[in-house]
Amino acid sequence: MESVDLHIKGIQKSFGDKAVLKGIDVTIKDGEFVTLLGPSGCGKTTLLRIIAGFEKADEGTVILGGEDISKKSPAMRDINTVFQSYALFPHLNVYNNIAFGLKSKKTPKEEIERKVKAMMGVVNITDLAKEMPSTLSGGQKQRVALARALVNEPDILLLDEPLSALDANLRKKLQAELRDVQKKTDTTFIMVTHDQDEAIAVSDRVLVMYKGAIIQDGSPEDVYEHPVNRFVATFIGEANIIECEKISDKLIKSAFGELVVEKVPTWPMDASGKKCGGVAIRMEDIHVCNANEHFENNVFHAKILERIFRGDYWELIADFGPIKLRVMTDPDEIYNPGDEVKLYMEPQYLQVLED
Ligand code: ATP
Repeated sequence: MESVDLHIKGIQKSFGDKAVLKGIDVTIKDGEFVTLLGPSGCGKTTLLRIIAGFEKADEGTVILGGEDISKKSPAMRDINTVFQSYALFPHLNVYNNIAFGLKSKKTPKEEIERKVKAMMGVVNITDLAKEMPSTLSGGQKQRVALARALVNEPDILLLDEPLSALDANLRKKLQAELRDVQKKTDTTFIMVTHDQDEAIAVSDRVLVMYKGAIIQDGSPEDVYEHPVNRFVATFIGEANIIECEKISDKLIKSAFGELVVEKVPTWPMDASGKKCGGVAIRMEDIHVCNANEHFENNVFHAKILERIFRGDYWELIADFGPIKLRVMTDPDEIYNPGDEVKLYMEPQYLQVLED
């Protein structure tokens, strides 16, 4: 089958005098699972609605499989949407909800039956064919909505916060199922979420949005391990941020001492001629040294101020003098408030930020 990539070019959108999308350029490959991740109001739903055709962009084009679809109505695009609210037809049972689109396209009865049954199998709701929507749980309703959208074999499935109405445990289960369904159907999924863990768990690629722009585009590992700026570093996984001054290409100075880093900081010069910026380090990447460990650099003395039980790990608040950093240790590594420790920060884990 021909590959159907989505090209979004120069999309701008304002509501009144408020610029909501400020020039979005991105290509989403056929078969990718991409999430649009960002805080409330950053423009993710507006971008999704422009892809679906529910909203018109002020500038820019949407190209699907080589064709400019910017002016096509939603119904004329090979794109379906799953909403947070499920939007099932209340008067139709599960089977007929899923068959609805195929029936309106006058698909032959045997084909409808084959496709609907196959799709019910994919989303694990084979037993529910005769149930009415009012008798279903939230998770079951979302599976029906998913099957109804996918049975029409769209080029792209858009998902607008599809799991946010579900409780935490069910949400985790459905995240795994969503990923599984996406792989089985080999359909491009573009999902909006403001939940970082969800984006990291399900997608091949995360587009981090902030104030109407895509500020980072990468694999889940990439955005977690190599955040580009302070916003991404603290929005995804709450990193420690250390304010530093550039000394040389691989050496920076923090309030508690000099740090060797791998990436060259490109911070701009301030009025006093200093190049200053932030460096992020995850709490799991700060290592508490034992008595036999020696490292050439990036080792600092700190005092433990607090120990917080987090279930599968301890979070320590470590006092570095001028600043405090959060450190993660295993459940069997016990450090108490008042303990003096040596902490090591490996250069590869010190992420030099753009700002
Ligand atoms: P959320 O997670 O809260 O849905 P979002 O990132 O999806 O946020 P959008 O729904 O795209 O954000 O909204 C972006 C901005 O555009 C918000 O400030 C919102 O109030 C505004 N906005 C969206 N739709 C309209 C509209 N039809 N008319 C006026 N303003 C709108």
